Amino acid sequence: MRLVLLGPPGAGKGTQAGGLARRYEVPHISTGDMFREHGQLGTPLGLKIARFMQSGQLVPDDLVLEMVEERLTREDARRGFVCDGFPRTLPQAESFARRLASHGLALDGVVLLEVPFQALIRRLCLRRVCPRCGALYHLEDRPPRQAGLCDADGSVLLHREDDHEEIIRERLEVYQQQTAPLVAFYEKATLLFRVDSARPVENIRADLYEILDPLYERSGDTR
Ligand code: ADP
Repeated sequence: MRLVLLGPPGAGKGTQAGGLARRYEVPHISTGDMFREHGQLGTPLGLKIARFMQSGQLVPDDLVLEMVEERLTREDARRGFVCDGFPRTLPQAESFARRLASHGLALDGVVLLEVPFQALIRRLCLRRVCPRCGALYHLEDRPPRQAGLCDADGSVLLHREDDHEEIIRERLEVYQQQTAPLVAFYEKATLLFRVDSARPVENIRADLYEILDPLYERSGDTR
Protein backbone atom coordinates (compact mmCIF):
# COMPACT_ATOMS: atom_id res chain seq x y z
CA MET A 1 0.00 0.00 0.00
CA ARG A 2 1.64 3.25 -1.13
CA LEU A 3 -0.20 6.31 0.06
CA VAL A 4 0.39 10.02 0.23
CA LEU A 5 -1.56 12.34 2.54
CA LEU A 6 -1.70 15.81 1.09
CA GLY A 7 -3.08 18.97 2.64
CA PRO A 8 -2.14 22.21 4.35
CA PRO A 9 -0.46 22.30 7.76
CA GLY A 10 -3.08 21.46 10.36
CA ALA A 11 -5.37 19.55 7.98
CA GLY A 12 -5.01 16.42 10.09
CA LYS A 13 -2.42 14.45 8.14
CA GLY A 14 -0.42 13.54 11.23
CA THR A 15 -3.58 12.66 13.16
CA GLN A 16 -4.78 10.20 10.51
CA ALA A 17 -1.48 8.83 9.21
CA GLY A 18 -0.63 6.69 12.24
CA GLY A 19 -3.96 4.84 12.15
CA LEU A 20 -3.73 4.27 8.42
CA ALA A 21 -0.20 2.94 8.74
CA ARG A 22 -1.32 0.46 11.40
CA ARG A 23 -4.37 -0.58 9.41
CA TYR A 24 -2.40 -1.29 6.24
CA GLU A 25 0.71 -2.53 8.07
CA VAL A 26 3.14 -0.11 6.51
CA PRO A 27 5.38 2.55 8.10
CA HIS A 28 4.20 6.12 8.66
CA ILE A 29 6.79 8.33 7.01
CA SER A 30 6.55 11.92 8.24
CA THR A 31 9.36 14.09 6.90
CA GLY A 32 8.47 16.77 9.47
CA ASP A 33 8.90 14.28 12.34
CA MET A 34 12.15 13.00 10.82
CA PHE A 35 13.52 16.54 10.51
CA ARG A 36 12.49 17.38 14.08
CA GLU A 37 14.29 14.26 15.28
CA HIS A 38 17.45 15.32 13.45
CA GLY A 39 17.07 18.75 15.06
CA GLN A 40 16.72 17.28 18.56
CA LEU A 41 19.69 14.96 18.06
CA GLY A 42 21.80 17.79 16.61
CA THR A 43 22.90 15.75 13.58
CA PRO A 44 24.65 17.55 10.67
CA LEU A 45 21.34 17.46 8.77
CA GLY A 46 19.55 18.78 11.86
CA LEU A 47 21.87 21.79 11.98
CA LYS A 48 21.44 22.50 8.26
CA ILE A 49 17.66 22.55 8.34
CA ALA A 50 17.02 24.42 11.61
CA ARG A 51 16.65 27.87 10.06
CA PHE A 52 14.19 26.66 7.42
CA MET A 53 11.98 24.92 9.93
CA GLN A 54 11.98 27.73 12.47
CA SER A 55 10.93 30.29 9.87
CA GLY A 56 8.23 28.09 8.30
CA GLN A 57 10.11 27.73 5.01
CA LEU A 58 10.56 24.42 3.23
CA VAL A 59 13.76 22.44 3.57
CA PRO A 60 15.57 22.36 0.17
CA ASP A 61 14.45 19.51 -2.10
CA ASP A 62 17.84 17.78 -2.31
CA LEU A 63 18.03 17.36 1.48
CA VAL A 64 14.46 16.08 1.65
CA LEU A 65 14.94 13.63 -1.21
CA GLU A 66 18.16 12.23 0.18
CA MET A 67 16.58 11.60 3.58
CA VAL A 68 13.44 10.00 2.07
CA GLU A 69 15.51 7.80 -0.23
CA GLU A 70 17.39 6.44 2.75
CA ARG A 71 14.10 5.81 4.58
CA LEU A 72 12.50 4.01 1.64
CA THR A 73 15.36 1.57 1.30
CA ARG A 74 14.75 0.19 4.80
CA GLU A 75 13.20 -3.24 5.00
CA ASP A 76 9.91 -2.12 6.56
CA ALA A 77 9.08 0.14 3.59
CA ARG A 78 9.11 -2.71 1.10
CA ARG A 79 5.40 -3.33 1.55
CA GLY A 80 4.62 0.35 1.19
CA PHE A 81 4.18 3.46 3.31
CA VAL A 82 1.90 6.27 4.36
CA CYS A 83 3.72 9.50 3.50
CA ASP A 84 2.68 12.54 5.52
CA GLY A 85 4.24 15.90 4.57
CA PHE A 86 6.05 14.47 1.56
CA PRO A 87 6.10 15.27 -1.30
CA ARG A 88 5.62 19.00 -0.79
CA THR A 89 6.91 20.52 -4.04
CA LEU A 90 6.52 19.57 -7.70
CA PRO A 91 10.20 18.56 -8.03
CA GLN A 92 9.78 16.29 -4.99
CA ALA A 93 6.64 14.73 -6.48
CA GLU A 94 8.27 14.19 -9.86
CA SER A 95 11.40 12.73 -8.37
CA PHE A 96 9.30 10.45 -6.12
CA ALA A 97 7.28 9.17 -9.09
CA ARG A 98 10.49 8.46 -11.05
CA ARG A 99 12.00 6.70 -8.06
CA LEU A 100 8.97 4.44 -7.65
CA ALA A 101 8.76 3.75 -11.40
CA SER A 102 12.43 2.74 -11.48
CA HIS A 103 11.49 0.00 -9.00
CA GLY A 104 8.43 -0.97 -11.06
CA LEU A 105 6.12 0.65 -8.49
CA ALA A 106 3.57 3.45 -8.32
CA LEU A 107 1.43 5.16 -5.70
CA ASP A 108 -1.92 3.54 -4.95
CA GLY A 109 -3.56 6.81 -3.98
CA VAL A 110 -3.19 10.37 -2.76
CA VAL A 111 -5.69 11.81 -0.29
CA LEU A 112 -6.19 15.55 -0.08
CA LEU A 113 -7.44 16.61 3.36
CA GLU A 114 -9.34 19.86 2.83
CA VAL A 115 -9.93 22.49 5.53
CA PRO A 116 -10.71 26.22 5.15
CA PHE A 117 -7.66 28.37 5.90
CA GLN A 118 -9.28 30.26 8.78
CA ALA A 119 -9.89 27.03 10.65
CA LEU A 120 -6.26 25.99 10.17
CA ILE A 121 -4.83 28.97 12.01
CA ARG A 122 -6.97 28.23 15.06
CA ARG A 123 -6.16 24.52 14.90
CA LEU A 124 -2.41 25.05 14.74
CA CYS A 125 -2.26 27.73 17.46
CA LEU A 126 -4.07 25.37 19.83
CA ARG A 127 -2.18 22.24 18.78
CA ARG A 128 0.03 20.48 21.32
CA VAL A 129 2.25 17.51 20.62
CA CYS A 130 3.84 14.76 22.67
CA PRO A 131 7.62 14.89 22.13
CA ARG A 132 7.95 11.20 22.96
CA CYS A 133 5.22 9.36 21.04
CA GLY A 134 4.10 12.09 18.62
CA ALA A 135 0.44 12.04 19.76
CA LEU A 136 -1.41 15.21 18.75
CA TYR A 137 -3.87 17.20 20.84
CA HIS A 138 -6.01 20.30 20.42
CA LEU A 139 -6.56 22.35 23.56
CA GLU A 140 -10.29 22.76 22.88
CA ASP A 141 -11.36 20.02 20.46
CA ARG A 142 -9.15 17.12 21.64
CA PRO A 143 -7.65 18.08 25.01
CA PRO A 144 -5.51 15.60 26.94
CA ARG A 145 -7.21 14.01 29.95
CA GLN A 146 -4.77 15.72 32.29
CA ALA A 147 -3.85 19.28 31.31
CA GLY A 148 -0.44 19.49 29.67
CA LEU A 149 0.31 15.75 29.75
CA CYS A 150 0.17 13.05 27.07
CA ASP A 151 -2.63 10.50 27.59
CA ALA A 152 -0.45 7.69 26.26
CA ASP A 153 2.81 8.16 28.14
CA GLY A 154 2.44 11.13 30.52
CA SER A 155 5.13 13.27 28.82
CA VAL A 156 4.85 17.05 29.08
CA LEU A 157 3.19 18.28 25.87
CA LEU A 158 4.97 20.79 23.64
CA HIS A 159 3.73 23.80 21.72
CA ARG A 160 5.81 23.53 18.53
CA GLU A 161 7.96 26.56 17.77
CA ASP A 162 6.40 26.90 14.32
CA ASP A 163 2.82 26.66 15.69
CA HIS A 164 2.65 30.38 16.48
CA GLU A 165 0.44 32.67 14.42
CA GLU A 166 3.06 34.58 12.44
CA ILE A 167 4.89 31.43 11.37
CA ILE A 168 1.63 29.60 10.72
CA ARG A 169 0.67 32.33 8.24
CA GLU A 170 4.04 31.90 6.54
CA ARG A 171 3.59 28.11 6.36
CA LEU A 172 0.13 28.50 4.84
CA GLU A 173 1.54 30.92 2.26
CA VAL A 174 4.31 28.44 1.43
CA TYR A 175 1.68 25.71 1.11
CA GLN A 176 -0.35 27.77 -1.37
CA GLN A 177 2.65 28.57 -3.50
CA GLN A 178 4.68 25.38 -3.44
CA THR A 179 2.47 22.48 -2.38
CA ALA A 180 -1.01 23.30 -3.70
CA PRO A 181 0.16 22.66 -7.32
CA LEU A 182 0.49 18.98 -6.37
CA VAL A 183 -3.31 18.75 -6.31
CA ALA A 184 -3.45 19.24 -10.09
CA PHE A 185 -0.42 17.00 -10.55
CA TYR A 186 -2.07 14.06 -8.78
CA GLU A 187 -5.47 14.79 -10.26
CA LYS A 188 -3.91 14.44 -13.70
CA ALA A 189 -2.39 11.13 -12.64
CA THR A 190 -5.93 10.09 -11.52
CA LEU A 191 -4.63 9.32 -8.05
CA LEU A 192 -6.39 12.06 -6.07
CA PHE A 193 -9.21 11.62 -3.54
CA ARG A 194 -10.63 14.59 -1.64
CA VAL A 195 -11.83 14.35 1.95
CA ASP A 196 -13.55 17.14 3.87
CA SER A 197 -11.30 17.43 6.90
CA ALA A 198 -13.23 20.15 8.72
CA ARG A 199 -15.14 17.46 10.63
CA PRO A 200 -14.56 15.26 13.68
CA VAL A 201 -11.55 12.97 13.47
CA GLU A 202 -13.72 9.82 13.57
CA ASN A 203 -15.80 10.86 10.54
CA ILE A 204 -12.68 11.63 8.54
CA ARG A 205 -11.20 8.28 9.52
CA ALA A 206 -14.36 6.46 8.40
CA ASP A 207 -14.23 8.19 4.99
CA LEU A 208 -10.56 7.34 4.61
CA TYR A 209 -11.19 3.65 5.28
CA GLU A 210 -14.06 3.64 2.82
CA ILE A 211 -11.87 5.13 0.09
CA LEU A 212 -8.66 3.30 0.89
CA ASP A 213 -9.73 -0.23 1.86
CA PRO A 214 -10.57 -1.10 -1.77
CA LEU A 215 -7.20 0.28 -2.88
CA TYR A 216 -5.55 -1.89 -0.27
CA GLU A 217 -7.34 -4.96 -1.62
CA ARG A 218 -6.21 -4.11 -5.14
CA SER A 219 -2.62 -3.42 -4.09
CA GLY A 220 -2.32 -7.05 -2.98
CA ASP A 221 -0.25 -8.15 -5.96
CA THR A 222 2.49 -5.58 -5.31
CA ARG A 223 2.64 -6.19 -1.56
P1 ADP B 1 2.97 20.67 9.04
O1 ADP B 1 2.39 19.70 8.03
O2 ADP B 1 2.13 20.81 10.26
O3 ADP B 1 3.41 21.97 8.43
P2 ADP B 1 5.42 19.11 9.27
O4 ADP B 1 5.75 18.51 10.56
O5 ADP B 1 5.00 18.23 8.15
O6 ADP B 1 4.30 20.18 9.63
O7 ADP B 1 6.63 20.00 8.74
C1 ADP B 1 7.31 20.94 9.55
C2 ADP B 1 8.40 21.61 8.74
O8 ADP B 1 9.35 20.62 8.28
C3 ADP B 1 7.98 22.33 7.48
O9 ADP B 1 7.51 23.62 7.73
C4 ADP B 1 9.28 22.31 6.67
O10 ADP B 1 10.19 23.27 7.12
C5 ADP B 1 9.87 20.96 7.00
N1 ADP B 1 9.45 19.90 6.03
C6 ADP B 1 8.74 18.77 6.33
N2 ADP B 1 8.55 18.03 5.23
C7 ADP B 1 9.12 18.70 4.19
C8 ADP B 1 9.23 18.45 2.80
N3 ADP B 1 8.71 17.35 2.22
N4 ADP B 1 9.88 19.36 2.05
C9 ADP B 1 10.40 20.46 2.59
N5 ADP B 1 10.33 20.77 3.90
C10 ADP B 1 9.70 19.89 4.71
